[in-house]
Amino acid sequence: MLLKQISDLREEKKPLEFSDIPEPVPGPNEILLKVNACGVCHTELDEIEGRTPPPVFPVVPGHQVVGQVVDKGTDVTMFKIGDRAGVAWIFASCGTCEFCVNGLDNLCPEFKATGRDAHGGYAEYMKVQEGFAYQIPEYFSDYEAAPLFCAGAIGYRSLALTNIQNGQTLGLTGFGASAHLVLKLARHLFPETKVMIFARSEEERAFALELGAIWAGDIGDNAPEKLSAIIDTTPVWRPILTSLENLKPGGRLVINAIRKEEVDKPQLLSLHYPDHLWMEKEIKTVANVARRDVAEFLEIAARAGIKPQIQQYALQEANQALLELKNREIKGAKVLVLS
Ligand SMILES: [Zn+2]
Ligand SMILES: [Zn+2]
Repeated sequence: MLLKQISDLREEKKPLEFSDIPEPVPGPNEILLKVNACGVCHTELDEIEGRTPPPVFPVVPGHQVVGQVVDKGTDVTMFKIGDRAGVAWIFASCGTCEFCVNGLDNLCPEFKATGRDAHGGYAEYMKVQEGFAYQIPEYFSDYEAAPLFCAGAIGYRSLALTNIQNGQTLGLTGFGASAHLVLKLARHLFPETKVMIFARSEEERAFALELGAIWAGDIGDNAPEKLSAIIDTTPVWRPILTSLENLKPGGRLVINAIRKEEVDKPQLLSLHYPDHLWMEKEIKTVANVARRDVAEFLEIAARAGIKPQIQQYALQEANQALLELKNREIKGAKVLVLS
């Protein structure tokens, strides 16, 4: 499924085109995967609508990829033919800058993203350097594993960046693929932490309560108590204000969104220093994902039995899955299943 140009999803209902391109040939340190499953992420909408545009068109999107190694370069040592492997948003980094050498390859100035800066997993085949591929615990099927590579791994990074301790209260603003995994992860890592959800749709709120949130309200509602940290996964601005208002003194808001949409930006003019920022409240963003996040999260998820709730689509139904995501028809994670 090829992305050939930027488009406006209010008008364009088929942003990706089902096409035939040559099978990729792996370089010396690359593996070739036959893709079995690829997760659908909100970031694909940001690419299609031009908020984080691919540098070159056409490109195959998709950065939550699970497949089987069917070919490999001469220097590959970590994978053999037939192995299962996964690929995340981090496709490449320089390996030598101050960020890379400290495990912050997500911040590398040479950071390359799967499915934006290189062909990704909305295809039958994709290639990747072996150092940017991961073994997958047996515990997960291909389609269960796919959303762990972005929704899960970035959720894991977001939760770590909140700095919360067991027993401190946690809020989640927006309740899509990533937040539903963060809720499961938080319940495992911080069993005494109360998790509260702010979500626009009633279905998302009901789903959150089903998964163990103790309270679920609309975005803009006041939670029954102030929160130590909140993770915002929405694509817009107003939730930043409503989240800040719901924080305790010293609380931290972590924004897990690669880009925000411009539609409601004027809302920021109602920023009110005493309510939103005073009392040492903090704002931090989550950028990309480090390789360490992916590897650690896969292991924790397998050990804790954290599996995503999945909605499955065929590869050719990618446009439908993306439009549903745009219209927030979401329950858990959407995955293209190829086998
Ligand atoms: Zn993603
Ligand atoms: Zn680097």
